[in-house]
Amino acid sequence: LIELRGVNKHYGDLHVLRDINLTVGRGEVVVVIGPSGSGKSTLCRTINRLETVGSGTITLAGEPLPAEGRELARLRSEVGMVFQSFNLFAHKTALANVMLAPVKVRGRKKEEAEARARELLGRVGLAEHADKYPAQLSGGQQQRVAIARALAMDPQALLFDEPTSALDPEMISEVLEVMQQLARDGMTMVVVTHEMGFARSAANRVVFMADGQIVEDRVPEEFFTAPRSARAQDFLSKIL
Ligand code: ATP
Ligand code: MG
Repeated sequence: LIELRGVNKHYGDLHVLRDINLTVGRGEVVVVIGPSGSGKSTLCRTINRLETVGSGTITLAGEPLPAEGRELARLRSEVGMVFQSFNLFAHKTALANVMLAPVKVRGRKKEEAEARARELLGRVGLAEHADKYPAQLSGGQQQRVAIARALAMDPQALLFDEPTSALDPEMISEVLEVMQQLARDGMTMVVVTHEMGFARSAANRVVFMADGQIVEDRVPEEFFTAPRSARAQDFLSKIL
């Protein structure tokens, strides 16, 4: 579904993505881990071209992503993103946040978008909280609204960039449970996370990045029990 071939990116002299080759099949869950500064967020943002790339190709469902224009906007909306900071509109209710893009971008009818938004809020366990504003919700609840909002565009894939890193420990599991359920429902997901329990239980593959390169790309069981590279061994020894 998502394919990166020979993708390179520089920030000035800094080579942040080095010859990245990555394929994410439909329904696959790929967890991306690696030290701070290794390029995980850049990789995520590159997948839907929130970042320009120096060289290489990115294809989505067999269609190459163009560098700009309407076609890019259309293909980009096929991939939802969930960030560490929930990025909800503070002056809109949970329901209004979830309805916004389908109405504005997709031109859906309000009633239709509202019904769908309520259904999605139910799916993330927030049916009762639809009319609350972000400030009235906990961090975990806000992040679940953000997930519902991403789902409202009916994306073919979801990218998560450290979705639980800003949360208090007791709220992490409620967000991970929603993500686990999405994975079981067959959603294609790329997840940057330090939650190794999630990686072990939900991921089809773990991609380990260091210095802008994909150093290992393997099934979780193998990666966690027998990492091949010294970099991965070192990383795991620090976090496990
Ligand atoms: P973290 O775990 O801390 O989130 P990361 O793996 O997500 O790290 P990136 O945010 O992708 O790492 O950053 C990769 C490298 O690119 C870092 O060295 C970072 O300082 C640099 N970088 C990121 N964004 C920019 C930018 N807009 N301009 C210049 N350098 C940048
Ligand atoms: Mg990051």
